[in-house]
Amino acid sequence: MSKPDVLVLKANRPKQMAMLAEAYRLHRYDEAADPAALLAEVGPSIRAAIGLGESKVDQALLEKLPKLEIVSLASVGYDSVDIEACRARGIKLTNTPDVLTNDVADLALVLLLSILRRVPQGDRYIREGRWAKEGSMPLAKSATGLTVGILGLGRIGKAIAKRLEAVGMKIGYHGRHQQKDVTYGYYKNLKDMAADRDVLIIASPGGPATRGIVSAEVIEALGPEGYIVNIGRGSVIDEAALLAALKEGKIAGAALDVFLNEPEIDEGFFALDNVVLQPHVGSATSETRDAMAQLVVDNLAAHFAGKPLLTPVE
Ligand code: NAP
Repeated sequence: MSKPDVLVLKANRPKQMAMLAEAYRLHRYDEAADPAALLAEVGPSIRAAIGLGESKVDQALLEKLPKLEIVSLASVGYDSVDIEACRARGIKLTNTPDVLTNDVADLALVLLLSILRRVPQGDRYIREGRWAKEGSMPLAKSATGLTVGILGLGRIGKAIAKRLEAVGMKIGYHGRHQQKDVTYGYYKNLKDMAADRDVLIIASPGGPATRGIVSAEVIEALGPEGYIVNIGRGSVIDEAALLAALKEGKIAGAALDVFLNEPEIDEGFFALDNVVLQPHVGSATSETRDAMAQLVVDNLAAHFAGKPLLTPVE
């Protein structure tokens, strides 16, 4: 039997790509000089597509893939996928939850401590020769005892909460539902949580339901001593309102791993000293990226063997 045709929207790790190349005929959309011509040629025979979190699977692409059975993403977020269109056609979707939770939660903690203790600013202070010339840096903000509100207390949100407790912070959360097995304080209203907390950490998904919910009002409710950390998705924050609040000192600072329009982010961030910026690296360790890539391999193998998927998006 001939190998199934798989469209590579974005490649993952070399070892797993080699495993995929053994089992399937791979078509490199990500490397095609003329992606439209590639789709016209191989689209009708494609049975699976693989990609990363940013890989766009929209109606226009789906129309070119009439035999598509499964999309397998190496990411937990799938806001780049038109999930309703996939459901309507019975196309399965898999993602990579759990294997990245600890790394993303670690980065959230690192980002929060970095902005509070001004770690990149201290590094710059030394490199620019200012320590010797100007003496000690201005004092930073203590983490101990701060109150934190987590928007999205899911797998990653809970792992962040555990880490924050270890450094003496107090946790509350907002989501659409109050969780029975959780003892942290629940806020039904996001603005109320922001008004009541020193720090807002965003660990919710992107997509239409969360677009801009961290609005100008929510940001300002945090107040001039407040901080924001975002490891969820850039679209969750009204980014123009965030930039304005940071410029005008309406909040104290922000530490961000995700942005609107990645990787060409708003250059307004570059001039600000009260931000810590990371290029969407929450899960970017070789160990975790290998585990994510392996889940893509294993999900495709399960699908083509007629077995249950390991990590389906229901
Ligand atoms: P998860 O277990 O599904 O948790 C998502 C949480 O968000 C849930 O607690 C959910 O609570 C809440 N939520 C969902 N929709 C909401 C809404 N409309 N309003 C308010 N809260 C909402 O997912 P996870 O594994 O923790 O991952 C969370 C997100 O992190 C992913 O979707 C992805 O966008 C992001 N992420 C980022 C990186 C990175 O590199 N920076 C890496 C991995 C993941 P309710 O159901 O009660 O609302």
